[in-house]
Amino acid sequence: MQRKLYANIIVDISQEKLDRTFSYLVPDSMQKLIHIGDVVAIPFGKGNRLTKGYVVELTGITQYEESKMKSIQEILVGTEQTTGEDRLITLAAWMRDTYGSTMIQALKTVIPIKKKVKPKEKKTLVLLLSKDETEEKLKFYEKKSQRARYRLLKALREEKEIPYDLATGKLNITSATVRGMEEQGILKVEAVQVYRNPLHQREQEDYTIRLNPEQQRITDAIWQEEQCRVSLVFGVTGSGKTEVYMELIARTIEKGRQAIVLIPEISLTYQTVMRFYRRFGDRISIIHSRLSAGEKYDQFQRAKNGDIDIMIGPRSALFTPFSRLGLIIIDEEHESSYKSETTPRYHAREVAIERAELEDAKVVLGSATPSLEAYYRAKKGEYALYTLDKRARSSSLPDVDVVDMREELKNGNRSVISAKLREEIQLKLDAGEQIMLFLNRRGYAGFLSCRACGHVLMCPHCDVSLSVHNYGRMICHYCGYEEKRPEVCPKCGSSFISTFGIGTQQVELVVKKMFPQSEVLRMDMDTTRAKDGHEKILSAFQNQEADILIGTQMIVKGHDFPNVTLVGILAADLSLHADDYKAGERTFQLLTQAAGRAGRGEKKGNVVIQTYDPDHYCITSAAKQDYLEFYGEEMSYRMLAGYPPAVYMMSLHGTGKDEQHLQMAMEYLVKMIQRMPENQKVRIFGPVQESIGKIQDEYRKVIYLKAEQLSVLTGIKNKLEKYMELNEGYRTVMVQFDLND
Ligand code: ADP
Ligand code: ZN
Ligand code: ZN
Repeated sequence: MQRKLYANIIVDISQEKLDRTFSYLVPDSMQKLIHIGDVVAIPFGKGNRLTKGYVVELTGITQYEESKMKSIQEILVGTEQTTGEDRLITLAAWMRDTYGSTMIQALKTVIPIKKKVKPKEKKTLVLLLSKDETEEKLKFYEKKSQRARYRLLKALREEKEIPYDLATGKLNITSATVRGMEEQGILKVEAVQVYRNPLHQREQEDYTIRLNPEQQRITDAIWQEEQCRVSLVFGVTGSGKTEVYMELIARTIEKGRQAIVLIPEISLTYQTVMRFYRRFGDRISIIHSRLSAGEKYDQFQRAKNGDIDIMIGPRSALFTPFSRLGLIIIDEEHESSYKSETTPRYHAREVAIERAELEDAKVVLGSATPSLEAYYRAKKGEYALYTLDKRARSSSLPDVDVVDMREELKNGNRSVISAKLREEIQLKLDAGEQIMLFLNRRGYAGFLSCRACGHVLMCPHCDVSLSVHNYGRMICHYCGYEEKRPEVCPKCGSSFISTFGIGTQQVELVVKKMFPQSEVLRMDMDTTRAKDGHEKILSAFQNQEADILIGTQMIVKGHDFPNVTLVGILAADLSLHADDYKAGERTFQLLTQAAGRAGRGEKKGNVVIQTYDPDHYCITSAAKQDYLEFYGEEMSYRMLAGYPPAVYMMSLHGTGKDEQHLQMAMEYLVKMIQRMPENQKVRIFGPVQESIGKIQDEYRKVIYLKAEQLSVLTGIKNKLEKYMELNEGYRTVMVQFDLND
């Protein structure tokens, strides 16, 4: 007798409420044909209406009584003949298990576009008559003075096919006329589905760059690498990593396989995309957050249909449904935007590696400042490590000065611009060169506080201070709450209220006053809100329409500005004291990347770093552009304090409207863990209040778990998830799992 097979099926991924699988019997005849990822027709609900479902699991065991189970009726879309979609569903299941989420949440992440988007159609008119028939008909129309028909037929005689829009537009033909002629068999209307191409028809150019020996060596080594699936290219900014990627892509395509290139959204500028386009032309597509849902859908369709070989985009491009994926590149591998902020809180690096396992593809990570995780694993031999330590073009690394702002204050300079930086700016202005000033803040200034009683203006819904913006508004950056800036302290009535901290707008005012002859551009969340605002400011600066560009981290990435010879970092340590074990790493990365913007052209660059903490290893090693020194210091701190990558860590983030109930629910989870066999292998911290204890009227608490093995944490997570799913007490609190890496 044939073994029974059961399919677990998700009925409708557009419906969060149905977040569970239903078990169906696979008819014997279907057993050899069915695959995970197939779309099937199943009888569902009252009346057994035939409904569409996704097969997410196939198994030989079931907890249900077989006689009561319904059978799958039909395979509607088999995965075999379409794409590697079954592998994407396997990937979703892996994400659910690793990061903690429901299957639907994971599926929605992996197959993101399930909304019905009407495909765009292009209609054309096609002539059906022979040459003689056409001439005859034309004479007929002329005689009868049917001018519209005459015009249209004449146009068709010249071109055989004309766009519908042209007929109804320029030729001024009504749709009724078209219909009439169609009915008479003179022409037919053809609709072709066209996929929107965000790159339009741009010119592909001859590609002239030849790899230098270093790039060549690395490219060959990665291509031939058989030990490690993952390669890490540790190369200073400008060392030519992108050329290495492109060569690897070219080889991948040559072998008939496809490539995904992940680039952080913020670096995905016109310039970057055009470099790829120049080489690969219409074989590439991009997705980014400014594309409409329809445009995104089309790009995934084009990938599925095999119309393109390369997809470039941020995190979500990872799920491009290529069926013969051969290569995944993650540029700026250290970027925090590769980590998803919503459940499942996955990291693109880890998911890329998992997908590559499933597809037997290669993964190439690249960075000038690799994440501690990546470098640690590379050193352990899990990843192959390659180093590019010279810039590809002859330009050398910039000279760096560190300015101690405490000394500045002692010398009576209260300005945000130190004497040294002021001097350097003047020198560069005189030489006609460009300057970037970088500040890790936005808005006019920081928060508003009372000099008399110390009261700080807070958001009524969140545990954060309100930020002062233009036009006398106070805004909460967490929930968007806004109010008018008060004239007097709302607590004690004193009129001595003023702002602390400094923002880009204030820097702009100071700089304009200090250098009245210079042209200044500012780039932050406020000036880039408009469509393409970001791109416009960068282009203006690149075209040298301004001397000085002031901005937040946005200015650090993307464009290459050969005429920038000075980068000023105004408050290097602003991000250093965040209460997060990654604060030091982020500061180092930001400073190194910012400094790397100086002197990318022929002329030598200078960097001025202003700080209140000039001896901190993050600052000193960034000033020296010495990643290895930083890695050594930071890694010993992580080892000592027990943070990733020295250990695996998982956070349980709890939120709820009732603080006490939340506290109890979180404490109970800790008790549960203590009763598990895994308790021996895990260290538990908390529950404690999150650094921001309340957002949008929801209280927030966190538990941290640390273990030597990832499987210990996943095991605990799975048990807790099951428990919370069944327990009433967890209806009003939400607990989200976050695997730190
Ligand atoms: P990275 O990606 O490491 O920052 P890029 O690939 O952007 O470096 O290279 C930096 C600059 O050097 C670019 O302008 C690039 O065109 C140029 N470049 C890179 N490799 C070569 C090469 N082999 N020959 C000539 N120019 C190169
Ligand atoms: Zn007051
Ligand atoms: Zn708020």
